[in-house]
Amino acid sequence: MQSRVAIEKQFRLTRIGLFVVWAILSATGVAWLVSSAKERALSDVMQKAGETLSVQTEILSGVLDKYRLLPPLLSRQSSIRALFVRDVEGNAQSVDARRVAEATSSMSAAMDVAFFFPDGEMLANARGTFAQRAEGLPQLIAVALQGRLGRAALSNSQGERTYAFSSGVRRDGKFVGVVIVYVDFYRVEAAWALSARRIFVTDKSGTVFLANDPGWRLKSLSDLRQTGEVDRYLINGRLEERLDLVRRLPLLEWDLHVLADPAPVAAARLSAATIATLLSLLVGMIALAALRRNEGLTIKARRDRAIALRLERVVRDRTRALSITNASLSKEVEVRREAEERLRKTQDELVQTAKLAALGQMSTALSHEYNQPLAAIRSYADNALRFLDRGALSEVSGNLSRINGLVERMAELSRTLLSFSRKPGATIGPVPLGTVVDEALLLARPRARAAGVASIRVGDGVAGVHVLGGRIRLGQVFVNLVNNAVDALSGQADAWVEIDARREGDRVVVTVIDNGPGVEPEQLPKVFEPFFTTKGVGEGIGIGLSIVDNIIRDFGGTIMVVNRPEGGACFTINLQAAESDAGISGVQAPATAGADA
Ligand code: ADP
Repeated sequence: MQSRVAIEKQFRLTRIGLFVVWAILSATGVAWLVSSAKERALSDVMQKAGETLSVQTEILSGVLDKYRLLPPLLSRQSSIRALFVRDVEGNAQSVDARRVAEATSSMSAAMDVAFFFPDGEMLANARGTFAQRAEGLPQLIAVALQGRLGRAALSNSQGERTYAFSSGVRRDGKFVGVVIVYVDFYRVEAAWALSARRIFVTDKSGTVFLANDPGWRLKSLSDLRQTGEVDRYLINGRLEERLDLVRRLPLLEWDLHVLADPAPVAAARLSAATIATLLSLLVGMIALAALRRNEGLTIKARRDRAIALRLERVVRDRTRALSITNASLSKEVEVRREAEERLRKTQDELVQTAKLAALGQMSTALSHEYNQPLAAIRSYADNALRFLDRGALSEVSGNLSRINGLVERMAELSRTLLSFSRKPGATIGPVPLGTVVDEALLLARPRARAAGVASIRVGDGVAGVHVLGGRIRLGQVFVNLVNNAVDALSGQADAWVEIDARREGDRVVVTVIDNGPGVEPEQLPKVFEPFFTTKGVGEGIGIGLSIVDNIIRDFGGTIMVVNRPEGGACFTINLQAAESDAGISGVQAPATAGADA
């Protein structure tokens, strides 16, 4: 994975690259927008100024055309031709001529109309502003006398300006005079004065002849203009930048100028530059924000990935640790299982040992149990032989049936002994409590009798009850309990032991009580401990009750001991009740139900 430093370096490079691209694009864009705005504004300004120029050119040409035609027309009129006469004294008809000049001048709205003799003497004029003093006059007369149209721009010291047209007057093929019409530009300049733009006319010498600014009139254009990179003109006492649109008025050799104010161009450039710059800044900011966001996302993704990797690593480590633990646990379980197995075997062997120990305790009594019937059988048999000799067959038959009964009893005891001494199985199931108690007493009674405990009673609650357990092991429980009671009762008069049972719900409570001395109160909690005994060496080893406790526990039951108030011990066994041979609730009885072997 890329390091943070590498990523940041990459971001920085991207940022610089994008900034360069942005700067180039922005500069190009701004320049293009500004120049196109300038072009547009300029062409707009030029178009408007050009329109003014065209209109004013037309007006000026119209005015001049009108006056241009006037001198030739007037010179052809006979009434005018007739004016150029002198009387004998050489005096001219100046009064009439003056009247004609005045009428013509006022009708045509010319500045002046004047009549000259070919020698330059003036016959008459209407106003007389330019008639005599003008510089171009001889030229005007001379050209007219050549039969051409004379023309000249004239000005005087009062600042009055005019354009004069001249035409020769012929009579009988001879020039007798010259008609000069002076154009009045007052109206033209008055019209121009309405325009905000400077409008003016320069002649071929560069002098401003007509202008809507009175201050410009008859000044040299070079005094009013400062040429440079941009041309500046003297406007209201200040030099201001202007664009000059010029059109030539061909016949007059005049140039008509219109000055356009380029301010809108500058304004358009400024606003275009502002807008374009703001736009590019906005684009730049958006791009920067997007870039930042992207960088943030990349860093976040990288961090998330790092966290995920770390997590993965942790999980992997934990998993490895867990599987190691798991392996060691299963090993431990295996070891425990084996230990349990060993314990179970040992326990089984212990049970067997305890059983055999009990049998050993009982063996004297049991052998007595066999010897007694054997002696009886012998004497019955002897008697039977004697009865047979006497022919008393009915007595023989009685003795034989008695022998039969004794043999039957011995066989039963032998069967029980055999099954008791066999190693029990591990299965549990319903067992008939009455049968188990009877078998146990069959083994325990001889010893009890020998010890002087004549009465071992079985209560009515025992018969017909089934409990969950193993037949031989349960039998061992009763043998042990009765043996202990007999030990405690030994030598006592009126000693008795009683076994009874009662049903409590789905449990069966079995009690084994005696009228012996009971257990020492401080020893009550200890009697079920292995190797706890109060008996002398060779009389007990202290595992009887411990085995009993284990067996009952295996059956899912409990055993406890208390001392009866009226004296003697009371062992109470609590077992799960079972329904005869059928399965008990919730537990399927095994096939070898109730049989330990
Ligand atoms: P052992 O019989 O070998 O001593 P047990 O585990 O069978 O071992 O009994 C432990 C002790 O419990 C006996 O030594 C005796 O003191 C006491 N005990 C057992 N049953 C009785 C009883 N019915 N009355 C009085 N004490 C008893």
